[in-house]
Amino acid sequence: MSTMATATTSKVAQFWSDELAARLVRERDRFVISTGITPSGEIHIGHLREVVTAHAVWLSLKELGQEADFHYFADSLDPLRKIYPFLDAKTYAEHVGKPIGKIPCPCGKHSSYASHFVEPFLASLKELGMSPRVIYADEAYRTDGFVEVITIALQQRQRIAEILQKQTGKEIKADWSPFNPICNHCQRISTAVVTGFDSDRKVVSYRCECGDEGEVSMRGGGKLTWRVDWPARWRVLGVTMEPFGKDHSTRGGSYDTGTLISEQVFQYPPPLPMPYEWISLKGMGDMSSSKGNVISIHTILQAVPPEVLRYFILRSHPSKRLTFDPTLPLLNLIDEFDRSIKDATDRPSHLANISNAPSIGIPFRHLVTILQIVGMDERKVGARLQQAGYQVTDPEVLKRYLSCVKNWLERYAPEEVKFSLQEKLPEVADELTVAQRQALKRLAERLQTGMTGDAIHKLVYSIREECELSPQEIFAAIYMVLLGKRRGPRVGMFLSALDRTWVQRRFREV
Ligand SMILES: [Zn+2]
Ligand SMILES: [Zn+2]
Repeated sequence: MSTMATATTSKVAQFWSDELAARLVRERDRFVISTGITPSGEIHIGHLREVVTAHAVWLSLKELGQEADFHYFADSLDPLRKIYPFLDAKTYAEHVGKPIGKIPCPCGKHSSYASHFVEPFLASLKELGMSPRVIYADEAYRTDGFVEVITIALQQRQRIAEILQKQTGKEIKADWSPFNPICNHCQRISTAVVTGFDSDRKVVSYRCECGDEGEVSMRGGGKLTWRVDWPARWRVLGVTMEPFGKDHSTRGGSYDTGTLISEQVFQYPPPLPMPYEWISLKGMGDMSSSKGNVISIHTILQAVPPEVLRYFILRSHPSKRLTFDPTLPLLNLIDEFDRSIKDATDRPSHLANISNAPSIGIPFRHLVTILQIVGMDERKVGARLQQAGYQVTDPEVLKRYLSCVKNWLERYAPEEVKFSLQEKLPEVADELTVAQRQALKRLAERLQTGMTGDAIHKLVYSIREECELSPQEIFAAIYMVLLGKRRGPRVGMFLSALDRTWVQRRFREV
């Protein structure tokens, strides 16, 4: 016993998802990890954390040899709360208050408003290597399991109201019901008052703001209100672990009330909580679909390789706040990711798992330089890479990376990274000093075919010393005559990918 304890404590700190998986195995005998994001607007990178976090624990469970379920619950019964800025006011005015699974999609290509946001999200998840089981609320609410929890909730309305009142400190109205019927007449889900129910016939009667009175079936005719719906799902789906945004984990928040309702009303032990912190977008603050300050996952994946995006989320514990900066820091992140692939052997399993992602072994930063050297013409990249000493092993992966580089340059790259080769000697070359001209001429003489980036870098440094220039002075000279500006990409790599004769001719022209 004591030797085992020593063995475990002396081990390097466990990766967070392994730790959570181990805890789940210790405390529960079923492993069901649930995620749920309401598709009422663009599903963004902040939401992605929920799924990536759950998926990581699911992978850890699999590594422990456990059968586990990992699903995504799409709340298609949630009402459209208002006319968001991205919606056409004329079309959507009549749909406010109706379930988003039952109203038209904004682009006309999807079966519903909910699918309009869920489908691209699932496609992005697939690109990221994650395929959760998908459950739509409007389908789930037609099953026996949900009819059962609806019946229990209606029967124990008083008990639930007491829990909510005590925990939230808010007065619960006399006509409050845990169930929201979908009005037969106006189709809205949050405007009717429950006037009674029949647990034998499984129907709920209501009176709606629109004047309609009638009955709906407990099978698909409505939905439990959020604070009751959540613990109801835990029981019906057998959830034993669930990540959720920190807003739910406040005192008296929905995890607290959910726990009490789950234990006292549904007789089900609440899942182990996995609260996670927000991801904010540099310069834009916390992302929020309703505020409209979001970048969709799909849009980010056009400029960031999927394995890099997953790495960004996984490398930090879920409790750590993250800021995603798609400008210059993204290049550093990708460099770090490349290094993590190189020393994958001593990495936690899940980062190693990412490392199994196809890699081209060419720094993203270099692709950024090369693509600009060839005037953004992707067909010419292969030859330049070879010239710079890189072997292209997988043309498909290279193609995918180049598309990311192109989009990154267009959307996020700061000006200092962008350049274009100047066809003629730029006017700014008139400002070069005698020593700078001398250095460029020497460089022209000593550049040789097949020199690697490192060799050129060393050559530039030795000429700098001979001509008594500062590093900035010699670098500026090179960039001024080739790019017409004083700053540019890392010089060794840059010159190694250029046509040598062309460079020599330009350097001699000064
Ligand atoms: Zn659509
Ligand atoms: Zn109505």
